[in-house]
Amino acid sequence: MKKIVTAGEIVVEIMATEIGQTFLEPGRWAGPYPSGAPAIFISQAARLGQPCGMISSVGADDFGKLNLDRLRADGVDVSAIAVHADAVTGTAFVRYAADGSRAFIFNIPQSACGRIAIDAAAEALLAGADHFHVMGSSLFSDRVVEVVRAGIAAVKARGGTVSFDPNVRKEILGASGMRAALDAILEQTDLFLPSGPEIFLFAQAEDEAGAVAELLSRGISAVVVKKGAAGAAFHSRRESVEMPGFVVEEVDPTGAGDCFGAAFVTHWLRGLAPAEALRLANAAGALAVTRKGPMEGASSTAQIAAFLASAEIRKE
Ligand code: ADP
Repeated sequence: MKKIVTAGEIVVEIMATEIGQTFLEPGRWAGPYPSGAPAIFISQAARLGQPCGMISSVGADDFGKLNLDRLRADGVDVSAIAVHADAVTGTAFVRYAADGSRAFIFNIPQSACGRIAIDAAAEALLAGADHFHVMGSSLFSDRVVEVVRAGIAAVKARGGTVSFDPNVRKEILGASGMRAALDAILEQTDLFLPSGPEIFLFAQAEDEAGAVAELLSRGISAVVVKKGAAGAAFHSRRESVEMPGFVVEEVDPTGAGDCFGAAFVTHWLRGLAPAEALRLANAAGALAVTRKGPMEGASSTAQIAAFLASAEIRKE
């Protein structure tokens, strides 16, 4: 089976328990939960039984241990996650507003996350990788961009493939040189996984079909557009497939895109037809929103199968 490697931040997430709670007064908080978009992605891929590894760094503290224990239990190769005695593990505090929006306080670039590098362990991990996944939200510093470039180069040199979930944060797009870095990654991308309107940040066209056509003409093999509760669509030069999502009660949306992406990439690498890979990925995304906690939403193959046995497809 093909080995997937990703790189980026590992953090703990601490969540407000009540809507409208602020950061300005004491309140009730839930967590720490293991988190970080690339970590959620790789946890989900590993839970589906795919060989997986991650390049990252944490502090020599309990928040780092919580994440390492979880990723190890999921089956992720953690040999390239460096543990720094003189840095603390990254954190993300999140609160929820009544309109459904979220606000964060992150400690990421200044934490152990900022120490990410290609060391001997990362080189060894990449020497056995068949696929590299890039999470756009991880590109918070030149250092991460360098790690991602090295990961892509190593995998491509072995004839492997690259997937890219832009997961763009506005602050990242504004950073100097970031546009060029994102375009360079896109040039190397085989499978592109934007979320809804995000696609228009990477194409000139004003409608989805036009944007997809532009991206495919740039050499990308397949574009998968995530559409929240509505499901997802797959486009390649050969075919386009729309797949409605499943009816579930949304409890916590964090991690849905990461779990969807991991399930799609895993099944795409296994050679499943796009419609089947979309169906399984929609199931992984739907299950992710039913559980509180970012990484708690990742499902096993058996959990996805059990869900699909009675799942209701959304009709609209
Ligand atoms: P992101 O988290 O990257 O913005 P989406 O919100 O589009 O991505 O979610 C990714 C996938 O998760 C969707 O394509 C869909 O399959 C599933 N999903 C997300 N939200 C829901 C929901 N409320 N009900 C059912 N499925 C959902």
